[in-house]
Amino acid sequence: MTDDATLTLSLDDARALAEEALRAGGCDDENARAVADIMIRAEADGCASHGLFRLPGYMAALESGKVDGAARPEITHLLPSVLRVDGHCGFAPLALEQVRPALIDAARTYGLAAASIIRAHHFSALWCEVEPLAEAGLCTFACTAYLPAMAPHGGYRALFGTNPMAFGWPRAGKPPMVFDQASAAMARGEVMIAARDGQPVPEGVGLDADGHPTTDPNAILDGGVLLPFGGHKGSAIAMLVELLAAGLTGDRFSYEAAEADNGDGGPPRGGEFLLAIDPSKFGDPGWLKHTEAFFDRLSAIPGTRLPGQRRHDNRARTAVSGIQMPSGLIQTIMEKSGKI
Ligand code: NDP
Repeated sequence: MTDDATLTLSLDDARALAEEALRAGGCDDENARAVADIMIRAEADGCASHGLFRLPGYMAALESGKVDGAARPEITHLLPSVLRVDGHCGFAPLALEQVRPALIDAARTYGLAAASIIRAHHFSALWCEVEPLAEAGLCTFACTAYLPAMAPHGGYRALFGTNPMAFGWPRAGKPPMVFDQASAAMARGEVMIAARDGQPVPEGVGLDADGHPTTDPNAILDGGVLLPFGGHKGSAIAMLVELLAAGLTGDRFSYEAAEADNGDGGPPRGGEFLLAIDPSKFGDPGWLKHTEAFFDRLSAIPGTRLPGQRRHDNRARTAVSGIQMPSGLIQTIMEKSGKI
């Protein structure tokens, strides 16, 4: 224990705690492992908004019966390089894990391959699914829609989800470059954490229920809206995400997900789009060396860094020091797992 407000846990202990709670809530072993793994990877990389903070939401979705904790994803090849994964109303992590080998294989064989994940409940950070594909030598893109939380540019009514997209690029002897960003000026999870901690959010993050700019996270969460990053440009990216994650996959747009959701606070049902490209099949045998020179040039500019560096630094640190968690959250998780 560190102080009254936080507890220090090793990653293994945090993982065991999360798995136990998920099993107690109705997940079978495989789903509990996959969901816990996603949360602990987020914790390890210092992404608290997609770590154990999400566990009560996962549990709520099990409790309400919205999510089947024992679902088994079903993978279909619509074409040799187009895969569809039906999550059968389970959590997304197992579906994403299970499609990975087939997607890697198809991308290496055909140069590029795509997967749509449908009827799955997604709550996590996207870099978790992009990074393993980029580690396998593939340039990767992923996006998913969510629940309406963000107004299109110029408006003050929510239509878009916070709609993240992530992109990964393989590197020689180094972790891949992965960026992963919401299309909102600030991810909703970060706004929730600011509200929990009584902190204001920066200007430009959202509007209150009357459409006025505000820095109060509660005013944004209670009837207000988030704004896209970069005005009309972020708004266009959010639209792209809706079209790929719902228009292309055939699953729900954010507003349709909200209309069908039972409001239990857990992840809504939605689609995800994944694209994997094998750069070695595009005619330049020197692509890796060429792009390393580009990264070197970028990193040599003072004040810059590559996206993902913060996460990798955190990963190295937490592997040794463990993670600090709000003690109230740990108590909630222990109650849910029946330990207290
Ligand atoms: P951030 O704004 O914190 O970061 C976005 C990206 O920019 C990261 O790759 C980050 O790398 C990089 N970055 C940040 N600062 C710098 C810098 N100074 N120089 C270079 N690169 C930098 O993320 P968001 O708040 O937009 O998103 C947070 C998470 O929320 C994402 O993982 C996203 O997938 C998730 N999310 C999930 C949703 C869902 O429905 N499942 C909905 C919305 C968001 P680094 O990490 O190294 O700082």
